[in-house]
Amino acid sequence: MTEIRKDPFTEQWIITGTEKEQEFFTSLASQEKTEWKVCPFCPGNEKVSGKEIFALRTPGTTADTPGWEVRVIVSKQAALQIETDPDRRPEGMYDLMSNVGAHEVIIETPEHVKNLSNLPVEQINKVFSTYQSRMRDLEGDRRFKYALIFKNQRKSSKYRLCHAHSQLVALPITPKTIKDELHHAREYYSYKDRCLYCDVITQELRETKRVVEENDGYIAVTPFASRFPFEVWIMPKKHNCDFLKESPESLVNLAKIMKNSLLRIEKVLDDPPLNFMLHSAPYMREREGYWATIKDDYHWHIEITPQVLELSGFEVGTGSQIQPLLPEVAAQLLREIKL
Ligand SMILES: [Zn+2]
Ligand SMILES: [Zn+2]
Ligand SMILES: [Zn+2]
Repeated sequence: MTEIRKDPFTEQWIITGTEKEQEFFTSLASQEKTEWKVCPFCPGNEKVSGKEIFALRTPGTTADTPGWEVRVIVSKQAALQIETDPDRRPEGMYDLMSNVGAHEVIIETPEHVKNLSNLPVEQINKVFSTYQSRMRDLEGDRRFKYALIFKNQRKSSKYRLCHAHSQLVALPITPKTIKDELHHAREYYSYKDRCLYCDVITQELRETKRVVEENDGYIAVTPFASRFPFEVWIMPKKHNCDFLKESPESLVNLAKIMKNSLLRIEKVLDDPPLNFMLHSAPYMREREGYWATIKDDYHWHIEITPQVLELSGFEVGTGSQIQPLLPEVAAQLLREIKL
């Protein structure tokens, strides 16, 4: 039985327990790995990969058959279920709810390539517009407060699905990381009457030492207090709290800077494992008073975090990172990469 439980010490929501608990422990014990002989994400294998929720496809072709450019399916590893209700309830002093949510996989290309950065800008652009379509669609479901787009990109292996894809999770809660960002942005705004992120962008453009790249719409920087070596944030230069409000023209610039930023990181670190997360405003902002001013004080962004350091006890214990590489040095090395 999967549940979403609130950790009373940190106020983090934890998704815990799966339908396949037994399987999980057996696989941990035996270290058994399944080799991927057929790629379920390649065209022709649509029936294996799962039911299509959405696709950009050639007119005249039907769902769950080839002819698509970007395809979205229900995740087979879904820890969350779309059919349930949140059913929020206390258990003594604890809080929990059932595992309502959406968990989707966005297959970014019909070609069997591993990294998003390997795709042409036009295709990356289609991936971003698919993100918008899916987030918009799920916004209509009032049970959901937040939708997170993220990617886990790993090194090639025959045990891993090496076909470019990202994931979308829609949740009945606003995750604590986002709440913390909203809170700090609001504090800053109420004190200065300016957006924290816009101020960061202005300063970074003036100082230039942490700027990795800039184009008409976006800036890529290594954050002043980077948590990971070669961490890169991409932000729209024009203030906007909501990724869904970016125009199709803006997405072209986003696709360009995303491709280049990923290529730089992949070259400098020899295709490292990495994650990226798209942080946009929560769905509830226009419906609930608490988030009413979010339009002015929050600023959507993408965080790209290469995973080259293992977490130590210090990091787990304090939530603070020891990160040896200065962001200014990282930015310089990334800038120097020949694309
Ligand atoms: Zn494939
Ligand atoms: Zn802003
Ligand atoms: Zn963020």
